[in-house]
This record gives sequence, structure tokens and C-alpha cells, in this order.
Amino acid sequence: MNPDLVLVLDAAAFAADKHRRQRRKDAEATPYINHPLTLATILAREGSVADAEVIAAALLHDTVEDTETTLAELEARFGRGVAGMVAEVTDDKSLPKAERKRLQVARAAHKSPGAKLVKLADKIANLRDIAGSPPADWDQARKAAYVRWASEVVAGLRGTNAALEAAFDAAAAAII
Ligand code: ZN
Repeated sequence: MNPDLVLVLDAAAFAADKHRRQRRKDAEATPYINHPLTLATILAREGSVADAEVIAAALLHDTVEDTETTLAELEARFGRGVAGMVAEVTDDKSLPKAERKRLQVARAAHKSPGAKLVKLADKIANLRDIAGSPPADWDQARKAAYVRWASEVVAGLRGTNAALEAAFDAAAAAII
């Protein structure tokens, strides 16, 4: 048994179950699980990230924010390291959206290296979605505003993984 493989596959199966009724906001309403799977693939393939806990955290990164999953549940099943990274990338949904966005910018530089990798992959995936299969009601001004905000978040994440930072820059340049 390879414990890294078991961790990653268990995280993928857990996330698929938790997100099973959710869809992305693109015109095709892509199954939500494609998004965390995309993050994990970006990290492994483009970022050469080999830490299974970071890959697992990427697969689980939206479970607490967007499903009924608790951090205690993640800690019991996947350990403190994974749960801690997910906690670091989880917005407090009791706050207004503008405040959540401001906090993402303010807190980016203070995150752990693993959480920074997950955040970078999340922003890359979101920009690629906006370029390739945007929400139907997003005009160019809204796309550009998202890119500007994501760039402010990523400014706090730089110095973590050069390949991923370059991938983000390329994805941003494709939109504005
Ligand atoms: Zn995400």
C-alpha cells in the first residue's frame, strides 16, 4: 500500500461525494468536482508538487466553504496537516463578499507554503475557466475586475512556485 496514493484517492472520493449535487457556474454547468480535480492536476503536472498532503488539500479545498463538511471531519479522516491547509483557504461565509475578497488579499502573504500552493492553483483554474468557459452573465469588465483582484491575491503568494506563478500570469494575460 502506498499511503500517499491512498490519501489522494480518499480525498478525491470524499470531495466527489460532498460536491455531488453541485455544478460550476459555466454555461455547461460542469460537475463541481472537476474544479478540485483541476487544481490537483495543475499542482502535480505544472507545479511539480509531490507532497500528497498538498494535493489532498487541493482536492478538499472547497468542501468546508461550499458543503456541510466540517474541519473536524477533515482532521479525523485526513489529519491535521490537510485540515489545516483547507482551513487556511476557506473563506468565512458569514462575512460580506467584499470583506471576504479584501481578506484574501490581506492574508495571502501570511499563509503556509502548502496553502499558498493551493491558492495559486485555485486562482489559475478560475482564470482559465473565465477565459474558456465563463459564467454566461459575465461581460469583459467583470472578467477584468476578477483578474485584477486575483492578481492582488497572487501578489501575496509569490516566491512559492515559479512555474505556477508564470502559469497565473499567462492565464491573466489571456483575459486582459
Ligand atoms: Zn476553488
